[in-house]
Amino acid sequence: MPTKIIFGDDCVSKNAALFKQYRKIFIVTDKNSAKLSGALDDVLTAANNNNAECMIFDEVNENPLLSVCFDAGKKAHAFKADLIIGIGGGSPLDAAKATAFFASNPNVKMMDIYTPPYENISLPIFAIPTTAGTGSEVNPYAILTLDGKDQKKTFNYIHSYPQAAFLDWKYMKSLPEKMTLSTAVDAFCHCVESYLSPKASPISKTIAADGFKIIFDTIKSAKKSEGYIFDAEIRRNLLLGSLYGGLAINCTGTGFPHPMGYNLTFEYRLPHGFACAVFLGEYLRLNSKANFVMVKEITDRIGASIEEIDAWLYDLHGFRDKPSGDTIEMFVEKAKSAANFKNSQYIIESAEEIKEIYKRIIC
Ligand code: NAP
Ligand code: ZN
Repeated sequence: MPTKIIFGDDCVSKNAALFKQYRKIFIVTDKNSAKLSGALDDVLTAANNNNAECMIFDEVNENPLLSVCFDAGKKAHAFKADLIIGIGGGSPLDAAKATAFFASNPNVKMMDIYTPPYENISLPIFAIPTTAGTGSEVNPYAILTLDGKDQKKTFNYIHSYPQAAFLDWKYMKSLPEKMTLSTAVDAFCHCVESYLSPKASPISKTIAADGFKIIFDTIKSAKKSEGYIFDAEIRRNLLLGSLYGGLAINCTGTGFPHPMGYNLTFEYRLPHGFACAVFLGEYLRLNSKANFVMVKEITDRIGASIEEIDAWLYDLHGFRDKPSGDTIEMFVEKAKSAANFKNSQYIIESAEEIKEIYKRIIC
């Protein structure tokens, strides 16, 4: 894994020397997270101390649109950027990866991002998460939304690995409770889905198991006290769990709760983590049929049954909408080509079965 992981308090300012070799830094972020979290100030100070010039692109939306990344890439190219820094949740971090690609490949058309081989490798990327959930800072995936389609497609490129990832829990202090929980649950799903992937290795399973355990324990015990979510130890634990999830899916990818969840995000604006969590209980139940032992390893480690984990997740996401039959048909159409359906112990072969799962879980 080529990313240098720097985890700890004030890690950007303590490692400002890493900015030294760059003169023109293009910062990719969304409207508020970089400023609210304090990460932007730290980056600008580090750049300034090294006499680097910065340009800020703060137009990234949640579930980033491919066209916005294309535009950012053009601007970064015109600026002659030599480094892209993504600051924010998974949306700006993923957008930074696409921007770094478009900036070094100025002659490609937008959809060419999905058709390798490419002429040039991406510009180097630094990633600074302000949510603890996606793990995007340590993997090469950029989940982008196709314009006009409400559908996501992954750009997975070996040169999209951030060169450095700076993980400082203080950047999550400003994250509201709901997003803190949704992003934590996203990381929980990454760890569980990674553990059950046929691509899992003993190393990725160890990391994933530490991840789902720390996230479950942290949220379960934290929920007991007022203002819990702003506690430093809780924030640090969740950031660690998110990092573990990112490292684990780096090896394996994710399972079917992800593509099934994308539809709930677009249709109901349900945040990404909660949307995946809606399907995690069913994912565990089906996998238990295919590989009882592996699922038992997970439930034993967590210290809760599948039904208890599902109830815990339901309590957190609280999703209660009931889509119509036509809406379910549309969900299946959008999700069915995802490779994730085969990336678990239990393999889903048909669109009919995806429909049945949607009906069982949310109708
Ligand atoms: P996000 O979409 O990046 O951000 C969600 C919201 O959180 C935004 O409204 C943002 O506010 C706010 N926010 C972020 N940090 C904040 C902070 N420190 N303080 C206050 N507000 C803050 O959320 P996410 O869950 O981290 O990322 C989800 C995206 O990542 C999805 O597109 C998903 O598909 C993708 N994803 C990628 C991977 C991967 O491996 N690459 C894995 C899982 C998910 P503002 O917009 O107002 O600034
Ligand atoms: Zn996710």
